Amino acid sequence: MDKILSKALVKYGIQLQSIVAIEELAELQKEIAKAVRGQLDKAHLIEELADVKIVTEQIKMYYSVSDSDVDKVVHQKVNRLKDRMENE
Ligand SMILES: [Mg+2]
Repeated sequence: MDKILSKALVKYGIQLQSIVAIEELAELQKEIAKAVRGQLDKAHLIEELADVKIVTEQIKMYYSVSDSDVDKVVHQKVNRLKDRMENE
């Protein structure tokens, strides 16, 4: 999968792929908003989550961000959330 995504990055360029990433994030926002309004379309939600995952991978590739770079920060943030909830 990474090979195809990096080929697409080379073929279309970071500028276009960045615009696509922004569009896909907006599409996910729309699906989340629809769900909150009681119009959940789970298949569409899954599709947009998949799209965001793909564009996120490309952004990580281009800027040389590893999974462990992200996981470390996710860990810190989840722990901070845990602490905040325990102190409420
Ligand atoms: Mg989409």
